[in-house]
Amino acid sequence: MNGYVSSAAGPVARLIEEFHKLPGIGPKSAQRLAYHLLRMPAAQARTLAEAIVDVKERIVLCSACQNVTEIQPCRICTDPGRERSLICVVEEPLDILALERTGTYRGLYHVLHGVISPMDGIGPEELKVQELLQRLRSDEVREIILATNPNIEGDATAMYLGRLLRPLGPRVTRLARGLPVGGDVEYADDITLSRALEGRQEVQG
Ligand SMILES: [Zn+2]
Repeated sequence: MNGYVSSAAGPVARLIEEFHKLPGIGPKSAQRLAYHLLRMPAAQARTLAEAIVDVKERIVLCSACQNVTEIQPCRICTDPGRERSLICVVEEPLDILALERTGTYRGLYHVLHGVISPMDGIGPEELKVQELLQRLRSDEVREIILATNPNIEGDATAMYLGRLLRPLGPRVTRLARGLPVGGDVEYADDITLSRALEGRQEVQG
């Protein structure tokens, strides 16, 4: 192990290692977080630990849309005010939060939990594609909006899904190119995202 960890006491070294495994946390940040926790009041540290355990024990994937949820099916899927013939396909649960913030979309969602990425050995089987096909069989779906991110993997995934879904009947559209290339749906501002939704276009292929 690196010097910055080995010099710390056992439990602290373990904490640093665990933080280092998180996305976007380098060795320095991991160390800073660990020492911050050391100085934190015991009650606060316990609250944080409980929140982490809670999220793993109480949060499940919605049986319909695969979004993370505390109730089954999730609140969006059971909301009578949502348009059930419209499904917006996103990469990650955080993308739903971004689209919901716009306040303009009133359909349902489907979370893939990733994108097709041959480099990382991720094919369609690793994503929630079968679950999406299942919904097309059982529900009256009129349009599928592909809202994967505007990058190579997101485009490839949208292309793949377009080819797969179109023969099954629904209209298949893709978010308009208002999103910055390489930018994530998750980080897009409300206006850009609303425009991308409004300007969505038929997937060619
Ligand atoms: Zn759901």
